[in-house]
Amino acid sequence: MWEDFEVALEKVAEDKLKKKPTPDKLGFGVHFTDHMFLMKWNRADGWHDSRICPYRNFNLDPASMVFHYGQAIFEGLKAYRGKDDQLFLFRPKDNFERMNASAVRMCMPRIPAEKMVSILRALIYLEKDWVPKAEGATLYIRPTMIAVEPTLGVKPSSSYYFFIIMTPVGAYYAEGCNPIKIYVSDQYVRAVKGGVGNVKTAGNYAASLFMSEIARKAGCTQVLWLDACEHKYIEEVGTSNIFFRIDNQLITPPLEGSILGGLTRDSVLKLAASWGIDAIEKPISIDEVLDANRSGRLQEVFGTGTAAVISPVGELWYKEKNYVINNGQTGEVAARLFTELQAIQNGFQADPFKWVTRVG
Ligand SMILES: *Cc1c(COP(=O)(O)O)cnc(C)c1O
Repeated sequence: MWEDFEVALEKVAEDKLKKKPTPDKLGFGVHFTDHMFLMKWNRADGWHDSRICPYRNFNLDPASMVFHYGQAIFEGLKAYRGKDDQLFLFRPKDNFERMNASAVRMCMPRIPAEKMVSILRALIYLEKDWVPKAEGATLYIRPTMIAVEPTLGVKPSSSYYFFIIMTPVGAYYAEGCNPIKIYVSDQYVRAVKGGVGNVKTAGNYAASLFMSEIARKAGCTQVLWLDACEHKYIEEVGTSNIFFRIDNQLITPPLEGSILGGLTRDSVLKLAASWGIDAIEKPISIDEVLDANRSGRLQEVFGTGTAAVISPVGELWYKEKNYVINNGQTGEVAARLFTELQAIQNGFQADPFKWVTRVG
């Protein structure tokens, strides 16, 4: 069984290694490293055929269930090059445990979280030259699980692939840590309680594209989702969670089944509380936010997520009206969180919560 499985290593020949992109050409998720991790699952053997191998195409039957019913889950985390040129991971075990929560909800097999952290370290160590040196640049890691049984019956697949691919990325938003404009969707919704909004499954993102395009055409970078029943309560923004600072209190919506529980969100709640900030989870409606903005009590708004870390929100577009927040400036708590979280992730700052682990 997986507790003691072996990982085979099949290396790319020295003369076949890819040319690494220059720092200005990183983009987000366009260049992939030389190697990947892959393992397979079926009922009889559990996880097996586990290997670090050259990055390559899959050969899948067109009937593979993932293509038809979207039984697919993923994670997103990063390797950071920091203090003394060392490499770090931020809360990697939490990512694999969250993936297991996604697996359970999607009727997929669980992975050994602890073991996956060791395998991931080995993979990153092998690809260490791919972890970018430029400030704000990182190696983005994408663990993914897909259903590969070739049959069209609607049921949980009896076989799966789990793989990890990695891509060097620059800073997430073209604007850097500058305030973004977001579109408050009062028509389309992302998730409902009891649905799958609280797990990282592929279909959530496919379903968000239509609204994202509307937002993009209106000059917005992201969509702010409201609850599916009343179109009133704030849920999250794009692939980030969201925070509001009102009367010095930091507020984020509670995890009640339709919101993805971000690790950055959790880290921000803990870090802010450790600074003595009153940081709480409570339902907050779009009307409360706009009222607070009107009366000057809304100090700042920002999103949190692995990809962008902290993304300040400078403008909200809601029902054909534009609302400017904090004069379109980055708020002081967002700026401090951005700096200190990055300093922890890069090993430059004490890590009181034991979030960071070294690679190699
Ligand atoms: C991944 C994700 C987040 C952020 O999670 P982190 O663990 O902080 O990266 C937030 N919302 C959605 C919908 C996501 O997919």
